[in-house]
Amino acid sequence: APTHEVGRVSNVGRASYQVWTASGPEEARVAGTLHQAVLGRSMPVIGDWVELERLADAQGLRIQGVLPRRTTFARAVQGGVAEQIIAANVDLVFIVTTPDLDFDLPRLGRYVAAVQGSGAEPVVLLNKVDLAADPGWYLQQLQQLNTAPPVHAVSAAQSGGLDEVRAYFRPGVTVALIGSSGVGKSTLTNRLLGQEVATTGSVRQTDQQGRHTTTGRTLYRLPGGGLLIDNPGLRDIAVWDAGASSARFEALEELATQCRFSKCTHTTEPGCAVRRAVERGQLSAEVLTAYHEVHGVTSRPARRPRKR
Ligand code: GDP
Ligand code: ZN
Repeated sequence: APTHEVGRVSNVGRASYQVWTASGPEEARVAGTLHQAVLGRSMPVIGDWVELERLADAQGLRIQGVLPRRTTFARAVQGGVAEQIIAANVDLVFIVTTPDLDFDLPRLGRYVAAVQGSGAEPVVLLNKVDLAADPGWYLQQLQQLNTAPPVHAVSAAQSGGLDEVRAYFRPGVTVALIGSSGVGKSTLTNRLLGQEVATTGSVRQTDQQGRHTTTGRTLYRLPGGGLLIDNPGLRDIAVWDAGASSARFEALEELATQCRFSKCTHTTEPGCAVRRAVERGQLSAEVLTAYHEVHGVTSRPARRPRKR
């Protein structure tokens, strides 16, 4: 006879989910009835608590239902006309930025607002302060956020200021780190957990194309209690910020006027000024990815890691 239990969704794949049960991470599928029941509503997302049925004869785990969500992160899709929930039950979100080109006060303000809107508590981390000539200037700027989130200057690389961050950890709390690629989220994750769990920097490039995979751990126990969710879909804020502001695409749309084809999708067309800008580092690859997400472009440019 099947047995029933409760688990937590820690990663979402194309056809299956990674769910944490009492025995650790396991693969689960959604029951057919649930597919019908939630049609038009949200399927299980990262952080969801789900009701599970363990089938006999190693037939696996079936997700039977989604428990009520305490907090929900949604992003706008289809140009803002629809919403997609991407994470649930996250209580505390560290918004990571750096004292360099990533620093963008209006954007940070939107992130803070989005986190508050989800029901979670935002905390801004100014990472890489070891590289800043004048960290005080950045901290002063952050004081101007009218949402007044707590702000901490840290250096993941030099383990500076991390005790202030750890002070937020407590049993029962689910934590996530968000921010642009390269701001140090993986380095912070490793430092905060006290073990090398996340791949940092260039190593992850190869990993990017597999961002729908359900393999690998994505839910960790924090040393002070609580859980950390580290999932690409949640981590890469650009994706869920995509619909939040069309201003995000202003630079891209400006460049697009120089593409050879007027209907260029900026994927594989020759003479694409947008992809050229990305290659030259003049436009963030995340912006282009986000743009494709929002405009429903599926034929992405080849993302295979280059073999040298
Ligand atoms: P992620 O993409 O946000 O996960 O960023 P990573 O953790 O991969 O870090 C990107 C790069 O920044 C890596 O080369 C890190 O070693 C470096 N980095 C991370 N934190 C710091 C820091 O506090 N100071 C300095 N100088 N470099 C850092
Ligand atoms: Zn183009």
